Amino acid sequence: MPGSHKKNTKSKTLKGIGVSPGVVIGPVFLLTRETLRVMERTLVGNDIQNEIIRFERALIETRRQIKVLQEEMEKRAPGSGEMILEAHLLVLDDRAFSGEILKRIRQEHRNAEPIISEVAENYANILGSVNDAYLRERVSDLRDVARRVVRNLVGGVGPSLSELARKHIIVATDLVPSETASMRKDMVMGFATDTGSPTSHTAVMARAFEIPAIVGLHNATEQVETGDEVLIDGNKGIFIIRPTPEDLERYGRVAKARKDIEDELTTLKDQPAETTDKHRIVLSANMETTEEIDTVIQYGSEGVGLFRSEFLYLSRDEIVSEQEQAQVYSEVAERLSPNPVIVRTLDLGGDKFMDGGLAELREPNPFLGCRSIRFMLQNPDHFKSQLRAILRASIHGNVKIMYPMITNALEIDQANELLEEAKEDLTRLNVKYDADIDVGVMIEIPSAALMADTLAEKVDFFSVGTNDLVQYTLAVDRINERVAYLYQPAHPAVLRLIKETIDAGHRKNIWVGLCGEMAADPLLAPLLVGMGIDELSVAPSAVPMIKDAIRRVDYIRLQNLATIALSCKSADEILRHCHNLTSEVAPELLELV
Ligand code: PEP
Ligand code: MG
Repeated sequence: MPGSHKKNTKSKTLKGIGVSPGVVIGPVFLLTRETLRVMERTLVGNDIQNEIIRFERALIETRRQIKVLQEEMEKRAPGSGEMILEAHLLVLDDRAFSGEILKRIRQEHRNAEPIISEVAENYANILGSVNDAYLRERVSDLRDVARRVVRNLVGGVGPSLSELARKHIIVATDLVPSETASMRKDMVMGFATDTGSPTSHTAVMARAFEIPAIVGLHNATEQVETGDEVLIDGNKGIFIIRPTPEDLERYGRVAKARKDIEDELTTLKDQPAETTDKHRIVLSANMETTEEIDTVIQYGSEGVGLFRSEFLYLSRDEIVSEQEQAQVYSEVAERLSPNPVIVRTLDLGGDKFMDGGLAELREPNPFLGCRSIRFMLQNPDHFKSQLRAILRASIHGNVKIMYPMITNALEIDQANELLEEAKEDLTRLNVKYDADIDVGVMIEIPSAALMADTLAEKVDFFSVGTNDLVQYTLAVDRINERVAYLYQPAHPAVLRLIKETIDAGHRKNIWVGLCGEMAADPLLAPLLVGMGIDELSVAPSAVPMIKDAIRRVDYIRLQNLATIALSCKSADEILRHCHNLTSEVAPELLELV
């Protein structure tokens, strides 16, 4: 069964990419695609009978598959199918085996998957210990069959992480944003994945939920098994398997030192984000779900610079109704009033998909396909329903609309036309809304940055989305850890595009913000201020750290840093200058990144 060959008692340290800060120590729940299927659920009422039917169907399907396999093997190597797969069929038809599983489903009110694994493992232990070579060889047949039945039970769709019954650290091959979105913070202490990157939406969610996390560990899933103790340092990307008493003591000290720095930073809650010579910017928060409203307030952000509305849709298989959306946006607007809340219209596609719905979004190159505003403009009814929901919320606070993934001015015109129609719909229905609602666009595609002067004439603000701008400028998939070394927000080409956007916006008298993860880097945020950015929007928990980084230095110095950075030839050179400044003015912040 999963991981049983990995028994080891030695401590081992792996290095990945820390994407969500915090140190946690706890037992592993190994979530490879295989183990996802053996997660436990409690059955109530009719569930038990349904589970029995489900199990019996899986047995029938498994039998059919083995027969097909047997025929194929017979064709390729006569005799081989008979030998190997007949034993599988024997296991499957063994009444004692399936009878025990059925009995336990009825008695224990648990789903079939973990029971099959447990019964198979008991049989395997008995067979493995008898003094008969033939029977001992049947152990692997038994395990194979059990795995096949489990696979058929779920048909590729595993139960959700929300069903985890005890506190664990999830170690997974990968996690998609909808899986992360379904995590319960009280059950998931932290997570670590073999794949992934800091700007994947899985990482974004981890920061939003304040769950310490590491990605890009390559093969962590091959080195642990469920129940192993591990330590995660989400700041530095350190993953320790079976930590020693010395590790635990050292990390106790590290966590305490970081906590002291963080406590100190909370005293800045009501202070402005301004340099020592009073150049002030707006420091807002990014949010994905209403669960974050309290944290947004608690950390002292000045509103929401990016509300990723699509997270309402993840882990659903249907479109969210206008009424439900309006309720959510109104709640956020009301709680944060008078501070602004920028609702970004749906940005599905890329790495964000709904559980089963909107299958048309599944494409060969989802980051270059019908993602985001493109999908919405092709589905004007969905779009108008979302726009009406945002407009309805606009009377409950200071709400603004933002269109993502804009590539040209025509898309803004088309979106604005639909906005006008949405307004007319509400007027006809006698529903109140803010008729002068501000409309902005994300600048996250190089063409938009280069055309920023044209786009600026059509909107009230820009927000630079560097997570995508970096990916599209440097042709580096933002969620692929194999090319993570090329994903450089401080690349001179990226900085020039940002500078172009800021200057174009200012020439047309609109403000320019930045809501990509780059804004939450205490080395880079001061540089962005020096380049003239008006607003930064970061994960709520990063607000105090970024505020501190800005408050330690004067504006002239940051303008000089920007001038130097814009003349550098490489990201490394630029980062060196930024690092030197931070080590001089705020060295303790380096401990947090
Ligand atoms: C971005 O691209 O920088 C951004 C903030 O949007 P998202 O990460 O949701 O694509
Ligand atoms: Mg984006």
